[in-house]
Order: sequence, then structure tokens, then C-alpha cells
Amino acid sequence: MILLSNINKNKIYLSPPHMTGKEAVYIKGAFDTNWIAPVGPHVDAFEKELADYVGVKGALAVSSGTAAIHLALSLLGVKRGDVVFCSTLTFVASANPILYQGAQPVFIDSEPDTWNMSPQALERALIDSALVGKLPKAVIVVNLYGQSAKMDEILALCHQYNVPMIEDAAESLGSSYKGKPSGTFGDFGIYSFNGNKIITTSGGGMIVSNSQEVLSQARFLATQARDQAEHYQHSQVGYNYRLSNILAGIGRAQLEVIDERVNARREVFNRYHNELSFLPGLSFMPELEQTFSNRWLTAISINEEQFGASSKTLLSAMAEENIEARPVWKPMHLQPLFRECPFYQHSNEDISSPLFHTGICLPSGSNLSEEDQLRVINCVKKVAKIKV
Ligand SMILES: *Cc1c(COP(=O)(O)O)cnc(C)c1O
Repeated sequence: MILLSNINKNKIYLSPPHMTGKEAVYIKGAFDTNWIAPVGPHVDAFEKELADYVGVKGALAVSSGTAAIHLALSLLGVKRGDVVFCSTLTFVASANPILYQGAQPVFIDSEPDTWNMSPQALERALIDSALVGKLPKAVIVVNLYGQSAKMDEILALCHQYNVPMIEDAAESLGSSYKGKPSGTFGDFGIYSFNGNKIITTSGGGMIVSNSQEVLSQARFLATQARDQAEHYQHSQVGYNYRLSNILAGIGRAQLEVIDERVNARREVFNRYHNELSFLPGLSFMPELEQTFSNRWLTAISINEEQFGASSKTLLSAMAEENIEARPVWKPMHLQPLFRECPFYQHSNEDISSPLFHTGICLPSGSNLSEEDQLRVINCVKKVAKIKV
């Protein structure tokens, strides 16, 4: 193939927004009816449509996925001095709300089959907590890049120790585990509609639950915890976390095409897999049997010796070609912010750190053209020193 100069090459983004065009119709509806507020018909409809899509009793639309996690912790009564367990291999937004509540995060390593929370590390952490008489107030389980964690094993442990589970499904809307939609396993599920997620409202989130009572408490907290009174009266701390009716309109149009978006991302994954899986030292994030990943991001891992180059070298080659690729999340237990926090390793091996050091997320947008994807594929092959 002819290698053109990079200068004129358009930038290939990791996971850009993908609009349908219909968003503008819903936005116009909001303007025409003057529902320019964090309440309104689009908000109500978006909540109902998302709850129906994942098959739960109700949902609350909020301003971000982070806000949704914060509300979940708040609803579970997490407070200063409490302990909360959290997957280590994740984006910082999974763990920051633990600090907002003044609680102590304990990080749980990944296991190799899903790259998500290791049930055996979780079990050791629970045994230790029980021994000192201080069980966690919640376990936050992340479904990385769309892949569900080992829910049966994790939930069995949470039930055994009677600890509530929050499912951070920010990256896994449209995925499923044994046929059940991602985000519906815990006491709370949370989704994100940030600009880079599988569907977006530019910024936004959702918290779902099967308890209407708990959801109405969430609604109360998310609207400044205003007591029922004729004047403004408040007896507990609240937040301003509701989603704008304009943005909910965007979300409704996006949700209508969620299955198409999932299929497109899975096609992107399949094309990478077909073209690159023969390369020595390059492996793909697995999809556990009986799970269905939305393949939000295609993640690979590089064995430097076999591949002939490090993941860092590959990342720089991509940057030079104006391709946005990213390292796998840096585990929370390696972050300066969480330096003091306990960490439970999968076994005598730490699984998440090597994934961070060798892992790369490839451009995976549902609007990635075949031509652009070929540029990414050729860049990987070039670094692997395969003739293209
Ligand atoms: C994006 C993301 C969040 C936070 O969502 P925001 O809407 O950006 O606040 C939380 N957890 C994970 C795993 C995410 O990827």
C-alpha cells in the first residue's frame, strides 16, 4: 500500500460521539415547549425508555455517571470512616465518589478471563474485613470496556456477606451476562452518557434500580433534598444532580439506535481481530463465555518480546499517524491519589498492573470508517514489522 504523508491525514479519534440527526428534533421540541430545565418531558421519557431497555422498574437521569455512583453510595448510607471495595482496573470516576463520602477505598485486582474484579481477591478481602469486624458498606464492580465481570461469583460473595453491590456499567450499556442486561445485577446500576461512551448526551448519567422507593429517595437527594413544606426546608445534605431536559432529548434519540451502535462496535472489533490476531505477541481482551460485550473499546495487550515492540512504541507510532489510541486504564492502586489504600491481588500475581503496562485501546467508534480502520490496522502491522 502507498504510504501518504501524515500531515494531511485526518485525525482518527478513540471513541467520538455518533449522532443520528434525530437529536436535533428532540432538542427543538424542548425549545418549542420551553422545557429548558433539569426537569421536563424528555427527562421522564428518557428514564422510562432506558428502564424498559434494560428491564428494570425505574431509572433516574442525572448529570453524570460519577453523580450516579455518588448518589448510590449516599443512598447506601456510606459515610466518613466506612470502607468501600472497588475494582482497581477502571477510570477514576468509579472511585472518586468514595472519597466524596469520606470513606476508605479498598481496591480489588482483576482476573485474567474478563480483566474485571477477581472473585478470589474479593473473597480474601471480605474474609479479612469480617475478621476485623468491619465489612465494606458497598462493592463497586466495573464492567471494563463493555465486558461484564463474573457476576455469579461476585454476587454470591456479596450475598454471603450481605454487602450491597453497585454495578458500574458506565462502559457496558447494551452488554449482557447470561442473557441479562449489564447494569441490572446490583442493588444499583449506573450508566454514563459522557461524550466518549457508546451513546451520549454530551454529558449525563443514569442510576437504575428495581425499588421505586429507593429511586424516589435518589430523586430527592439529586434535587437538593428539599423537604415537603411550603417554604424551602432542608434536613439533610442534597445535590444538584439532575439531567437537563435538552440533554435528555439527545439521549432519547441515541437510545433508539443503541443496538445498531453495539453491532457497529462489535464489527470494528471483528475487523481488528480478523486482521491482527495472527500477529505474534498481540492478544485481545477476552469475551467470557455466556457474556455479550458491547465492545465499547477494542483492547489489546502486547507481549513486547514476541511482538517485537512495546505498547509504548506502538502508541507513539499511532500518535505520529494522527491516530488516537490510549493505554488501558492505570489501576487505582497505582495512582498517587490512592497511594495509602489497601489492595487485594488476584493471586501471587498482580493481573491489573501488567494489563496497564501492556494494554492499548484502539479507535473503536461506531462511526469509524473501514478506510480509517485500515489505517489503524496498517500502523499496527508496520510496527510489528509485517509487510503491508
Ligand atoms: C465514564 C465512566 C464513569 C463516569 O462517567 P461520567 O459520566 O464521565 O461521570 C464511571 N465509571 C467508568 C468505568 C467510566 O468509564
